[in-house]
Amino acid sequence: MKFKLPALHHQILIGLVLGAIAGSIFAVKENTLEIIFEKEGKSNTAVISDWKNFSVISEPEKVEVFQSNEQQKIIAVTNKLLKSKTSFEIKISEYFDDNQTAVKDAVFKSVTVVKKEKTVISSIKWIGDIFIRLLNLVAIPLVLSSLVVGAASLGDIRKFARIGSKTIVYYVLTTAVAVTIGILLADIIQPGHRIDPETKEKLLSSYSEDIQSRFSSNVEFDIINVIVEMVPKNPFAALSGSEMLQIVFFAVFLGMIITLVPKEKSAPVLAFFDGLSDIMIKMVEVIMIIAPLGVFALIASTVSDFGFSILQTLIWYIITVLLGLSIQVFGTYALVIRFLTKIKVIQFFRAIREAHTISFSTSSSAATLPVTMECCQKNLGISKSITSFVLPLGATINMDGTALYQGVATLFIAQVFGLDLNMGQQLTVIFMATVASIGTAPVPGVGIIMLIIILKSVGIPETGIALILGVDRIIDMCRTVSNITGDAVAAAFIATTENEIHEENIETVNSK
Ligand code: ASP
Repeated sequence: MKFKLPALHHQILIGLVLGAIAGSIFAVKENTLEIIFEKEGKSNTAVISDWKNFSVISEPEKVEVFQSNEQQKIIAVTNKLLKSKTSFEIKISEYFDDNQTAVKDAVFKSVTVVKKEKTVISSIKWIGDIFIRLLNLVAIPLVLSSLVVGAASLGDIRKFARIGSKTIVYYVLTTAVAVTIGILLADIIQPGHRIDPETKEKLLSSYSEDIQSRFSSNVEFDIINVIVEMVPKNPFAALSGSEMLQIVFFAVFLGMIITLVPKEKSAPVLAFFDGLSDIMIKMVEVIMIIAPLGVFALIASTVSDFGFSILQTLIWYIITVLLGLSIQVFGTYALVIRFLTKIKVIQFFRAIREAHTISFSTSSSAATLPVTMECCQKNLGISKSITSFVLPLGATINMDGTALYQGVATLFIAQVFGLDLNMGQQLTVIFMATVASIGTAPVPGVGIIMLIIILKSVGIPETGIALILGVDRIIDMCRTVSNITGDAVAAAFIATTENEIHEENIETVNSK
């Protein structure tokens, strides 16, 4: 009997499941720390676990003491001291060393790093990093080239204005629906009122240092400024700085103007971008050969590094977000597909499953974009002129999952702080989350930074972000799946209204 390798999609799924299993078997221990320090000019490593008291002494009168369940906080505090070059020493009492021998007391001076202990998984993380980098490498040239071709292929300005406005209105409406679902669920489930005061204090103190270091830049929101900044002064700087909104603006503008120039001048330029876009898509096909391995490494390192104990404390918040995302994906989108397109719901979800696994593992709509485009073109038969306009635009500005999560997170934080929001404030959240999600860059972890703007708009202290930071990675993975599904649904909807679905173009869905 000949051995046949499972289809790529199944290989990726196997990579994901095996990654989750490997990650949980080799999970980083939450009561263990690795201390690297210098002694007699040499670098030494000590692995300590189950300490009774871990004191960080930065000045004679400044002593902070931590218990063995405060790994996260110890790392944040020592990192901050190291960064600010403040000298300190660590005194630990009653702990186990790396040979599991009980030690009474020890003092560590000239500490250079305090971090979580490495596991076997840390040594394969690089494979996942390379995989994400490869996908990101394709994203920017692909957004540029496909949007130029997409905008130009819409032909005349009237068609461009029709499809452009239809797409934008659709994006804004579905995003508003998503936030509303999030807010209603948070009102019904009241996750913030289900958390006890002790957990609240613990989360706030564990993550507040992280918040200070990660969110130091002052995020101010001014809608006029956002619009002005969408226009790049230098498109090449926008490209090299990955300024997605600016790239979108430039690409669409360029594509539009190309149609106004005589054919003999514009044709070679258009052919260049068209070729570039096809080459980028081909590049993704090649990169996808290592996808099962990349996904395995990404999931394994995320799971192994994740402190699962925090899941329990935030369980109601997580349930609210996940329920909201499921309603958006399997309710709102399924309804749009069922009633507003000529595609079958099952066929749709089968067609984009590869994009689902990639978005879940990379947490990046931009990195997933090439895969989403391929799924829509080859598995659904949506014409290239629609996918190359609607999808890159959607990956940048349409983030329903992010907006939904921002709605839940805002209400959750408000509830924990006892600042329950009235109807007017909730409407402000819907508006602000819709706008903020447009400005959210399609890369991991940006949704939580944009959350600051929404919190500010209704007067909730930004420190509340500390409450949800610990589980953000997992939520990010799920909201990104919803984000890219929303883009694919939009492509299917717009293509249906424009009669741009060509079943004869379907290549792979049945053979996979
Ligand atoms: N990771 C999300 C995306 O790429 C953005 C976010 O919500 O942080 O779609």
